[in-house]
This record gives sequence, structure tokens and C-alpha cells, in this order.
Amino acid sequence: MVMTIKKATWNDGPDLAFAINNRANAAIEKNGSSAVINAALGTLADDEGKLISLPSVYDRLDEMDRSRIASYAPIEGEKEYRRIVIDNLFGAYKPEGFISAIASPGGTGAIRSAIFSYLDRGDPLICHDYYWAPYRKICQEFERDFRTYKFFTDDYAFNIKALEEAICEGLRDADRIALLINSPANNPTGYSLSDDEWDKVIGILKEKAEDKSKKLTLIVDVAYLEFAGDGDEQRRFFKKFSLLPENLMVIVCFSMSKSHTAYGLRCGAAVGISQSEEIIKEFEASLSHSARCNWSNGTHVAQNILIDLEKEEYKKVYEKELEDLRAMLKRRADLFVLKARENKLTMIPYFGGFFTFIPTARAFEIAEELEKENIFTIPQAKGIRVAICGVSEKKIPQLVDRLAFYINEK
Ligand code: PLP
Repeated sequence: MVMTIKKATWNDGPDLAFAINNRANAAIEKNGSSAVINAALGTLADDEGKLISLPSVYDRLDEMDRSRIASYAPIEGEKEYRRIVIDNLFGAYKPEGFISAIASPGGTGAIRSAIFSYLDRGDPLICHDYYWAPYRKICQEFERDFRTYKFFTDDYAFNIKALEEAICEGLRDADRIALLINSPANNPTGYSLSDDEWDKVIGILKEKAEDKSKKLTLIVDVAYLEFAGDGDEQRRFFKKFSLLPENLMVIVCFSMSKSHTAYGLRCGAAVGISQSEEIIKEFEASLSHSARCNWSNGTHVAQNILIDLEKEEYKKVYEKELEDLRAMLKRRADLFVLKARENKLTMIPYFGGFFTFIPTARAFEIAEELEKENIFTIPQAKGIRVAICGVSEKKIPQLVDRLAFYINEK
């Protein structure tokens, strides 16, 4: 017997990444952490395999007055939090136009609300074919039409032609479409669109928006922004969202999970950009309504941590800690790329983020073999996702060596 309604009945089984991570933890318990490589989950671990929690972030929590922890946040988020999100997200590259941030539980909440409010039932959401699975699940839940295009050409360059075709097809079938791009430091590939590639994407969208009977939304998931390079270069593309046509809405999905090692605190924001004040007011009203009837308020303590971290004395400490994390991840990534080259292991070009990606049609079979050696990775339809965020520099050569062994076997 099935008690759940048809639309809410799913047989997905447990989330694959979390299930594999559970097996990795069981292997660590049994054999000790030095005998296990856990490259399954997208959380940063230190060289001993322990989850990193930034002192600058959690000291603020420890010192916080309990009334600021226990109390409700405003539905749309603390005013200061919303302002700081916008300032820190865009840095020197704030787009021109009207901008507003609505708090959400993590980036997931922001992505969910963008998909819910800007597409109708059956409308296409167009996404690259290497993607974070919750995008598809959210679309299924809301009956949006999740469609993919080939992210890469055969030599792993961004496939702008495939994207354009998917947009044209979407607009032939519907008057509303949304395009979702996870860049910079894409999960699962580590790819980042270049400024030139962004120009092409915006160019296509602007051209399609000339037809005023169409409504287009660009959803940009920047969950890994802080791990996509040094300095502010990775933010340059934001400026391209300036003064776009009114029927082309942009929503940037911000998350504190990775940038603040605050995965479990569930804090993020949807940041709407439009040249029309009226459209931004509508954005605020719509997303606040969704918040009220889904999670009501965001996590107050996390919003207050971000506010407190703006104080000069704390900001400097946080920025130094983040810089150290970035450097640690870069050392792991650089070594992975070097060893991959030495071992003739093909990988998708890595520009940043928590993952590298090894394309193969035998991902599930190989991941199973690797598990027998206590190496835990995530197999996907197009290849193996390797969470270098969880693997010490010392273990990287062995990880690449074993991957190359199985990949190059046939
Ligand atoms: N987008 C991508 C691609 C992710 O990998 C994640 C987390 O793993 C998120 C968004 C959102 O995470 P959260 O809801 O924890 O902010």
C-alpha cells in the first residue's frame, strides 16, 4: 500500500553521496583513517580527515548572546545580513540595477525558490549535463521540465552551441524558460566559465529577450565561489548582469555552507537583479511568501555570525583563515592535476572548487573496485567525482594512481 500521494511518492533510495560517505566512515572505524581515502562528500577536511570548522566563524557563535541565537530572524532575513550578502558576494563587480537578497536555508533554499517562482508547471529548466542532482529533484517535485545540454565539446571546452540550441528549443516549447549555471568551480567537474564564455551566454539570452512575449531567468549557483581562485577575478562576470532587459531576470544563489564551513547551519540567500524596481519588489514578495510557508525563517544565528564577521577585527581573521583553506585545497588540486598528467589520466579541466572529475562510462564498476581498496568516490553516469576537499595532499598520489589503474585498464 502507498500512503503518500502520487506526486510525492519517490523511490530514489538514500542519497548516493551520503550513503557512500557512511560506508567510508565505517571503513575508517574499522581500519583507521590512514588506511582510507574518503573522496565522497563535499565538505572540507583537514589532513587527518577531520571536518574543518573555521574558528573565526564558531568563536562568534560561542560568544553570541543567546537571545540572538534563539530568536526568530525576519522572514526575508536580517536587514544587515541581506546588505552584507550583496556587498560581499559582488565585491567590486556589483551589477548596475536593482538588487535584493532574500535569506534562505543554504543555497538549496535559494535554488528551490528561484525554480518555484520563475517557472510554471511544465516550463523548461535548462542545465548543463554534469549537474548537482538536487536541481533535477527540485524540478521533479514542482513538475518543472528539467532538460540538459552537452556541457562540453569533445575536447572539454564549454559547448556554447549546445546551450544555444537548448535555449532555442526551450523557447519554441514555452514562453518561460530558466537557465541554471553552476559556475565558478562547478560541482561535479571543477569547471569555471571564462569571462568570454559568460559574454556569449549573456549575448544569447539578451537576443532571445528581444521577443517580449518571452520571460527568461538566469539562475547562477555560486556555492563554490570562494574556492574558485585568488583575489576578485572570479567575481568579474557579475558585472555583466548590469541593466539587462526587463524580461531577463537574474538570480544568484549564495551559500554560507562552503565559504564559512557552515554546512549544517543552513544559511544562504537568493539575490535578484533587475533593471526594474517593480520586478525586484515582486521578487521579494514572492520569495518571502515561499519562505513563510516552507521554512518560515532562516537560521538567525548564522545570519548574525555573518553580521558579526563584518567587524574589522573579526573580518581580518576570517579572511586569513579562508585564504589558508583555499591554499590547502589548491595544493591538493595542483598535485592531483600533475599526477593525472603523469599517469595519463584524462580529467575535465579543473579551475577550482571541491571536486575533480574523471570521465568514464564504467564509473559504477570502477568505484566499486576502488571501494574494495578503501577508496571512496562518487560514481555518476558520466564519470567519477572525486572530492579532493576531503583528501590530504599526502594521499593524492595514491588516489590518482589507483584511479588511473582502473581507468586505463581497458
Ligand atoms: N550547489 C551546489 C552545486 C552544491 O554542491 C551545494 C552543496 O553541496 C549547494 C548548491 C548548496 O548547498 P547548501 O544548501 O548547503 O548551501
